[in-house]
Amino acid sequence: MTAWESAQFQLAEAVKQLGLDEGFHDLLRTARRELTVAVPLRHDDGRLEVLKGYRVQHNLTRGPAKGGVRFHPATDLDEVRALAMWMTWKCALIGVPYGGAKGGVAVDPKSLSRNELERVTRRYISELIPVIGPEKDIPAPDVGTDEQTMAWMMDTYSIHSGYTTTGVVTGKPVSVGGSEGRGGATSRGVMYSAFCALRDAGVDPRDVTVAVQGFGKVGGLTAQFLHDAGCRVVAVSDVTGGVYNAGGLNTAGLLRHLRSGASTVVGYPGTDTITNAELLELDVDVLVPAALEGVIHEENAPRVRARFVVEAANGPTTPPADDILHENGVFIVPDILANSGGVAVSYFEWVQDLQAYFWSEDEVNDRLKRMIERAYADVSTLAGERKVSMRTAAQMIGVGRVAEAHRTRGLYP
Ligand code: NAD
Repeated sequence: MTAWESAQFQLAEAVKQLGLDEGFHDLLRTARRELTVAVPLRHDDGRLEVLKGYRVQHNLTRGPAKGGVRFHPATDLDEVRALAMWMTWKCALIGVPYGGAKGGVAVDPKSLSRNELERVTRRYISELIPVIGPEKDIPAPDVGTDEQTMAWMMDTYSIHSGYTTTGVVTGKPVSVGGSEGRGGATSRGVMYSAFCALRDAGVDPRDVTVAVQGFGKVGGLTAQFLHDAGCRVVAVSDVTGGVYNAGGLNTAGLLRHLRSGASTVVGYPGTDTITNAELLELDVDVLVPAALEGVIHEENAPRVRARFVVEAANGPTTPPADDILHENGVFIVPDILANSGGVAVSYFEWVQDLQAYFWSEDEVNDRLKRMIERAYADVSTLAGERKVSMRTAAQMIGVGRVAEAHRTRGLYP
């Protein structure tokens, strides 16, 4: 099942539970705007290559569109559509005044030099200028993009405007209008939501073992924060493979290892090498998929032994796998709740940029914690009342709020 099929399936379930009619269902599943752009790149060796870029604004009813930009070779329009739709429900679920969007360029950023990457970024964002802006659509980092990418995007947009517009993207470095706490926000949110689930199950975080798939911006700091909070992180991985130590990994050492230029976690001293497939099936308490969509599917779901799956990635579990995990008593904290810390602090960053008044890291983290815990409580309460999964409850809240906004605004003309 593709990400787009999964997203549609989940929406259909929420629409059914909410009793919305077919016309409304159509309105909610259809993206308002989809833009495909050519991104011509002059390589360092003089060769010209034309890459494909995308931006989908799934919904704009509750505010400007908001969502990350992915640089990945497998990115295509359908994947971006799915990710944009999930952003819409996520923003509504946590109560930030945005619609949902997503963007991407089909490219492997690791295959490019820094200069090539800068040219791709600037050309892509300049193609998007007619549809983005602090009041229209605000991009952010996702897989394969980072703070530097956002700084180049902000600079490109600002040069075209003739003045500095920090609020056009979020996830920027603090030196150019970024927010304190944004770098670790998604991971912090994953930790807060995981702790809500453990608390409700009466489990002490200091008694749990954890495996994290994807040791990137989100997975790396999630592992670190969980380790700092007393959990035993026994396995982490990246696209190359994974590392395992039953006694617990040195997460800070692994982060330093990558920051100092290592290309993979594999081979880190004091660890055994495992595959990504083995990591997902480890006998741990908490499994955190933090890489890509669809990694837990019909075939491997019966072998997942974790008690809790906390979805840091977007769409890591396909709907058939969802059913299997549910039957096996695995508790899932769904993506639009678990990874919403990123867009929560992106919202804080945008607010700070618009006001040109900046907050302390403690203030950001406090507000983030309250936002995640409130959203978790809303989802958990509805799941209990309606006897549905946490995923369906989260989708019902998100979809329901967007539907309510549509109804209140009315249909033009
Ligand atoms: P990233 O590019 O920083 O890291 C991705 C990690 O996944 C890397 O370690 C990479 O090696 C690994 N990976 C890639 N392909 C893999 C594969 N086939 N198998 C195993 N590992 C693989 O990206 P990120 O920003 O950390 O995003 C990770 C996930 O979190 C994505 O699903 C993204 O949409 C989601 N997310 C990110 C944010 C954010 O703020 N960056 C916010 C919400 C959700």
